[in-house]
Amino acid sequence: MSEPVRTCIGCRGRASAGELIRVVAVSGPDGPPRVVVDDRHRLPGRGAWLHADPRCRESARKKNAFRRALRISGALEESLG
Ligand SMILES: [Zn+2]
Repeated sequence: MSEPVRTCIGCRGRASAGELIRVVAVSGPDGPPRVVVDDRHRLPGRGAWLHADPRCRESARKKNAFRRALRISGALEESLG
């Protein structure tokens, strides 16, 4: 069985979806949208994929990759859990 291959937004490395975590932007009742981890790959909306590695998160944050990948133009709360 071939799993879909995704690109990590942190290091740009390619891996199967099962090796990466999916994050989506969820808008709260107040404040900017927030990045949350979609453990079960079920949350609706545009997702971004990255390794469960703090370095990939940090690098994605530095490059503004969350906002680009999730198509958020304004503020985005990027602290993951
Ligand atoms: Zn990575």
